Amino acid sequence: MEIPYDLLQKLPKTDLHVHLDGCLRISTLIDLAQKQKVTLPSEDPEQLAAIVMSGKNCKNLGEYLRGFDITLSVMQEPEALFRIAYELAEDAAAENVWYMEVRYSPILHTRKGMKLTTIVDAVIAGLQEAEQKFNIKTGVIICGMRNINPETSLVLAELAVAYKNRGVVAFDLAGQEENNPAKKHKEAFYLIRNNNINTTIHAGEAYGAESIHQAIHYCGAHRIGHGTRLYENGDLLNYVNDHRIPLEICLLSNIQTGAASSLERHPLKFYYDLGLRVCINTDNRLISETTVTNELHLAAKHLDLTIEDIKSILVDGFKSAFLPNRAKSIMLNMVNDELKKY
Ligand SMILES: [Zn+2]
Repeated sequence: MEIPYDLLQKLPKTDLHVHLDGCLRISTLIDLAQKQKVTLPSEDPEQLAAIVMSGKNCKNLGEYLRGFDITLSVMQEPEALFRIAYELAEDAAAENVWYMEVRYSPILHTRKGMKLTTIVDAVIAGLQEAEQKFNIKTGVIICGMRNINPETSLVLAELAVAYKNRGVVAFDLAGQEENNPAKKHKEAFYLIRNNNINTTIHAGEAYGAESIHQAIHYCGAHRIGHGTRLYENGDLLNYVNDHRIPLEICLLSNIQTGAASSLERHPLKFYYDLGLRVCINTDNRLISETTVTNELHLAAKHLDLTIEDIKSILVDGFKSAFLPNRAKSIMLNMVNDELKKY
């Protein structure tokens, strides 16, 4: 279905899977580099955009992740983290994202010696400032990294424990999925689970259903990041459905990393038809050159979703939020009232 872009923009939305270091404005990247005397591959906004939006012409997740070397080079000072978090929330609010969970791995911001606590404080402060100005509510997800050692994941899990109910809503595992199984990081997840903290784990993106199985049964994931290859195991597929484990779908990113061969062949529609809880997310606004509105537009157009399907997926997004149940119910009532207008 072709659904008008401006209609999709007006609908209340979530973005539950979005990486802070993948969402800078190009103008901010250039400005911060000048201020910090960091050399970028190009000073020209268009050329730089072509390099940083590595999603557009990469072959796999490894290549896709290269753009982050550039963005991370200017994300080593608290003022920069504050600004990037603030601007991300501003951009999301501008397309009617009502609720957003921003994820990042603090360990990637220590190149100039910033303390982990300073890093977490700066991001939360930026998001809180934006919440004061714009119609958006936010939470932070701390990421352990698959391709960094399990000891570091444990340190990051300790950080999430300290900031639980103080801005941090969940713990994730990100980075290179292939050859880096989640169960290696299980100690971090024991700590997280013992502290009753929410977890979502990137799985089934660059590796098969076995990776999703580990995320759920070894690490206790409450949501799955991507889950693109879940269809490869019918039994697990039904388990995820029966337990209402949400899948955080990122369409364009999946095409760019090769997790799905084309938009038409993406399993989102199949999962939705089967009754799975699915939500639509950006992954990386800059690297993938996308917005939630754009992702919804692509989903409707290439997977033949109707406006009613889109509304149902949006409601699933709010249901999947790592919010206290009471706050979630209040927000869901507002969302349903708003959706009735369209
Ligand atoms: Zn991701």
